[in-house]
Amino acid sequence: MFQHVEFYPGDPILGLMDKFNQDPRHDIKVNLGVGVYYDEAGRLPVLECVKTAEAARANPPQARPYLPMDGLPGYRKACQNLLFGADNEAVQSGRIATIATLGGSGALRVGADFIHQWFPQAKAYVSNPTWGNHISIFEGAGFTVGKYPYYDAATIGVKFDEMLSFFNSLNENDVVILHPCCHNPTGVDLSNAQWDQVLQVVQAKKLIPFMDIAYQGFGDDMDGDVYAIRKAVAMGLSVFVSNSFSKNLSLYGERVGGLSVVCPNAEEAKLVQGQLKFTVRRIYSSPPAHGGHVVDDVMNNPALFAQWVGEVYAMRDRIRAMRQQLQDVLSAKVPGRDFSYFTKQRGMFSFTGLTPEQVARLQSEFAVYMVDNGRMCVAGLNSKNIDYVANAIAAVLQ
Ligand code: PMP
Repeated sequence: MFQHVEFYPGDPILGLMDKFNQDPRHDIKVNLGVGVYYDEAGRLPVLECVKTAEAARANPPQARPYLPMDGLPGYRKACQNLLFGADNEAVQSGRIATIATLGGSGALRVGADFIHQWFPQAKAYVSNPTWGNHISIFEGAGFTVGKYPYYDAATIGVKFDEMLSFFNSLNENDVVILHPCCHNPTGVDLSNAQWDQVLQVVQAKKLIPFMDIAYQGFGDDMDGDVYAIRKAVAMGLSVFVSNSFSKNLSLYGERVGGLSVVCPNAEEAKLVQGQLKFTVRRIYSSPPAHGGHVVDDVMNNPALFAQWVGEVYAMRDRIRAMRQQLQDVLSAKVPGRDFSYFTKQRGMFSFTGLTPEQVARLQSEFAVYMVDNGRMCVAGLNSKNIDYVANAIAAVLQ
């Protein structure tokens, strides 16, 4: 009966994680593959603000009713305040439809379903390269997905002129998926001036900007990282924003994210909110309660919120320190090669420029795991493994 079912080879990044877990070289192995923040001790942290919120919620034990289809009101408000700013005109006037979602992935899917239903001619375009699931999610929602020029291996920068002319060639209502900060997988971001230019083309060509932000706070800071989002809103664009709390609250498995659609006015926002709820209802009905309450409690308690921001910046600063150290050690070991890109790139990821063969050697000879395309998760480095990793990279480069 099921012979015709196609074989699923597995997700390349999650498959790498399995391979790492099975690797018996426990004393030396280093996981720089999956996009997860590990602390200096190599552990997945539980943030202090989360511990406090969870402790308060656990005692006495709470009943577990279903949440509303679009999530807790305080959660939705928190997404809006964080992404757009509490005093933003669009927030104040109620022209943003926001729902809680199953992580950033769920936000992408619900947003993609919505656009595909109401703009069925639209095609979707992702950066070349991008996080692979962008393509899967949009294709899964029925889109034809193309790639726009982005990363320039020659300069370890952006093919900016090519990107702009590509956007200029697109059709009205085509969707462009953009990374407002900490580009995954390259770590190479646009400058604010470049964002201004991109958004002008988006506006002129009447494209639909879909901003996917999974690393708010890991680039510059909470407000700096959403420059492109706020600029788009200020320009009057109707922008889709998917956000994830997986990394910046270290709540990966709780599946906490949000989808916001900035609309021209409050009446249209009500229509959109209704359709987003209907989409949720017919797929999974309502979002997870535990993570939803934790986000609501942390974000809406001023003391816990301030503590959270401090904890995110501590993660950001540790990643920056690892970037600097890796750059320094490799510059000393491999003279004549420029490693300054490590500190120019931002967020959790770095495109190392290593070839698939070099990545394979790192894995087989040194038990250092990164993604085939040379993407390294810098947050997997710590003061105990960084020299070992630098030596391994230097060895495969020579
Ligand atoms: N977008 C990007 C760019 C990501 O890197 C990720 C996580 N790897 C997501 C979305 C999805 O986030 P979540 O795990 O919350 O679904």
